[in-house]
Amino acid sequence: MTIPRSDATRLLDWYRRNRRDLPWRRSRDSYRIWVSEIMLQQTTVRVVVPYYRRFIRLFPTVRALASARPDRVLAAWSGLGYYRRARHLSAAARIIVGKHAGRFPLRVEDALALPGVGRYTAGAILSIAYGARLPVLDGNVARVLSRLHLVRGADSAARRRRLWRLAGELAATAPSPGDLNQALMELGATVCTPAAPACAVCPLSRRCAARASGLQETIPPSRRPRATVEVRTGVAVVTRGGRYLLRRRSNRDLMHGLWELPAVGRGGRSDGLRLAVGRCVATVRHSITYRRLEVSVHPARLLAEPPRGGYRFVAPADLGRLPTSSLVRKVLAALV
Ligand code: SF4
Repeated sequence: MTIPRSDATRLLDWYRRNRRDLPWRRSRDSYRIWVSEIMLQQTTVRVVVPYYRRFIRLFPTVRALASARPDRVLAAWSGLGYYRRARHLSAAARIIVGKHAGRFPLRVEDALALPGVGRYTAGAILSIAYGARLPVLDGNVARVLSRLHLVRGADSAARRRRLWRLAGELAATAPSPGDLNQALMELGATVCTPAAPACAVCPLSRRCAARASGLQETIPPSRRPRATVEVRTGVAVVTRGGRYLLRRRSNRDLMHGLWELPAVGRGGRSDGLRLAVGRCVATVRHSITYRRLEVSVHPARLLAEPPRGGYRFVAPADLGRLPTSSLVRKVLAALV
């Protein structure tokens, strides 16, 4: 046991008194916990909450999700980013209904076989929903454990193995593994923060090796953020009867399947379209992961009908029914 039972109990008490009231914490339903864990990958709690509520309203059960067209699922995900997650949810829901009688699988091997479920996600869902003695290790938990046990050094495979082992020892003996995992995550998110951890109110401060050595602010070493890349691009806004021309993205990339405004290249060229492109009327800034986009917006007129298939005129009121990136809404809002 990496921390004595009395400390684990103190951590659990702290968690039960201080945890944030988040919608997915009101349920032990494995479906809801699964959806929240997928949404929370690479995305903050504040951004996830409204999406989670809407998603659960639209797809209240795994069977509802499994029978929904993937495009509807992608539309509900529009604006949340990392769209592969939505495609994985859709595919995994069909597997859960087809192979596991509509219940998120109990066996860790079966959970790991689902699209989009890795070791962390499987541990989180199975421990929270079913009380399985499985560890979790996300950025928050890794920071807490590194500090508690003075695990020095930069991120590496060996360091991660050691942290997984420590998390595993903790989960193996915790009074309530699901709550303990959540308590560690919550402690990392709200108290043991990357900068200026609030050690004075931390339930584990007596046990913390980093604090005892005065190293709580330097462990783990901060990672250099990925350099941002500035990208300049342009879009064409073609209207017909109050509707906007959108093009379906077909590249096999992260945004595959989303509807977007046609791009305008140099000299007014736009892939697949013949357009008369006007001057830039607005500039919109938008970030996608490490890319900072500066998007010039050009009214344009069709010189020939768009090819069949990948293009569609869409009324603003119908945008919510299509998978679109938040850039489309930003551009259209800039024109109002
Ligand atoms: S005492 Fe400070 S550094 Fe140690 S776990 Fe608590 S908040 Fe983190």
